[in-house]
Amino acid sequence: MWRIEKIQTEKQARLLKTETLIQGLSGETEYLNQLGVVSARFGKQLEVQTINESGQVENTRSYLCHIRANIPDMVVGDEVLWHPLDASTGVVESLCERQSFLARRDKHGQQKMIAANISQVFIVIAAEPETPPLVIDRYLVACELLKLNVSLLINKSDLLGSADLLGYLQKNYHPVVDDIFLCSIHSEKELGELQERLANHNSVFIGQSGVGKSSLVQALIGDATIKTGALSQRSGLGQHTTSTSRLYHLPNGACIIDSPGIRDFDLDEVSIEELQQGYKEFQSITETCKFRNCLHDKEPKCAIQNAVKQGAISEQRYQNYLALAHQLNLLK
Ligand code: GDP
Ligand code: ZN
Repeated sequence: MWRIEKIQTEKQARLLKTETLIQGLSGETEYLNQLGVVSARFGKQLEVQTINESGQVENTRSYLCHIRANIPDMVVGDEVLWHPLDASTGVVESLCERQSFLARRDKHGQQKMIAANISQVFIVIAAEPETPPLVIDRYLVACELLKLNVSLLINKSDLLGSADLLGYLQKNYHPVVDDIFLCSIHSEKELGELQERLANHNSVFIGQSGVGKSSLVQALIGDATIKTGALSQRSGLGQHTTSTSRLYHLPNGACIIDSPGIRDFDLDEVSIEELQQGYKEFQSITETCKFRNCLHDKEPKCAIQNAVKQGAISEQRYQNYLALAHQLNLLK
């Protein structure tokens, strides 16, 4: 409750601060800028929804907006200052500061935005297809480097034979994630619990192909797709397709952002220092290693190896760190 209230208060403060009159496109008309959220992207145009005075998104109405020149690239989830031109179009004037983002690095090491203002990430794992342990670590490192809050969602719980997977994940990942829980599109109860976890958050689902991300999003959004279809028709940009990045609203104030880029999210090239930073449970301990540039491999007086021996760090996670370092060619 405290966190929700804080988010709302911040949004309101930002809205008040930015309620200024600005010169319009023609230089003659004056427009009142307002706060909005980017709910989809169609090429060079953005679909924007209004954020009202109480900080809630008014998703009953969307505007297809042109973008003023010299504004950084915007993605779904971005908060913007914009103004309407008529009942269905508008202009985006500026980009508000991002609280967080999901991004990948291109081959020059530049960050490429995928989605903005994500408050929680669900790494989706399933009984079928089985997720290799290093894959979970890859996602966790990538998310930790972006300082995102992560939970592990074990999907297709209806296919889960024994509790082994849940036990394994709880044993090794409990210290580094917000939550670990089961879900299935065939369980009303579990879908309801997931809905509660999503309330008042901007969430994304990442994970390997086939684990059920699209099915989950579909089960959660239900008739939200009908609305998006209506806008696409009006704007003449075609029906909603899976190639579009989109923000979906649930009645309980939850936002889900889904796109092919999110579904393909993975760890990009990192340095050994970054890999170590990506292991959250190493962070407070690494400073006590004898060598400042300790690889936590075979070095003497290594605080990480000691912590593993004493059971303060999971042996499995440590072995995954070494294996991942080898997989990424960071250790010989
Ligand atoms: P994605 O690639 O992660 O988006 O996965 P999909 O949503 O396309 O799902 C892959 C397959 O798993 C589909 O055949 C779904 O019907 C199936 N599936 C998804 N969720 C569940 C679930 O909770 N239980 C079961 N038994 N099957 C599921
Ligand atoms: Zn060390």
